[in-house]
Amino acid sequence: MIPELVVEDLTVRFAGLTALDAVGFTVAPGSVHALIGPNGAGKSTCFNVLSGVYRAASGSVRFGDAELTALRPHQIAALGVARTFQNIALSPRLSVRDNLMLGRHRLTKAGFLAAGLRLPSARREAARHGARVAEIAEFTGVGEVLDVPAGLLPYGMRKRVELARALCMEPRLLLLDEPVAGMNGGERREMAELILAIRESLGISILLVEHDMAMVMRIADAVTVLDFGRRIAHGTPAEVQRDPEVIRAYLGG
Ligand code: ADP
Ligand code: MG
Repeated sequence: MIPELVVEDLTVRFAGLTALDAVGFTVAPGSVHALIGPNGAGKSTCFNVLSGVYRAASGSVRFGDAELTALRPHQIAALGVARTFQNIALSPRLSVRDNLMLGRHRLTKAGFLAAGLRLPSARREAARHGARVAEIAEFTGVGEVLDVPAGLLPYGMRKRVELARALCMEPRLLLLDEPVAGMNGGERREMAELILAIRESLGISILLVEHDMAMVMRIADAVTVLDFGRRIAHGTPAEVQRDPEVIRAYLGG
């Protein structure tokens, strides 16, 4: 069962700046929820609070029974909340396979990477994880490049690998920070299809920070719009698209 993610009155301050001001929204189980807004609106800050990197000044983030604002990043990850970063965070010298295996680290009992595969139990566990990694690689379109160092891949492929690595954690909630940033039109459409496929076949919740309005309109079930740390609109893609506040914020009026 995937729980709701309920964000309430979330406020985050940096010296003299309120990056998030009493923001609230709910991500329904199994939905794609988009968090949009102009540069500096507070989208990445919100992700950083949800994943335990930043502390909230006040407010709450509930995922099922857990209060995420009280937890550290590894505890949040252990609850099945996985994220990608706006700037790619792969280990460039490691193969795609090893990057993905690192993504499974939280699921391993034996710690097979550290154990160096000396124990038969560690070898069996590694084989099981290896099979699942291959499956996820196939699903995300990186099955052909499993042995290639991640740093040698073109940008669009690295973004896919990062998504694959997040999926390797078997998340219940996936946080995607600008998954199509820097991609061309074709790559954007493919990534949109992949995100929809993840929702369809894995049934997990996806919270998506995205700049590309067309992409959001195409794949989001619900949209929350931030501007200068405040929630200015909320609704279906069609609703927020014609909201005067949103139009004003995006045109910089
Ligand atoms: P977005 O992702 O919507 O573009 P951010 O969440 O990155 O916006 O930033 C929101 C505001 O908070 C910006 O004014 C940004 O400069 C500020 N900010 C973000 N992170 C920090 C930080 N670690 N220290 C100080 N200010 C920050
Ligand atoms: Mg950002």
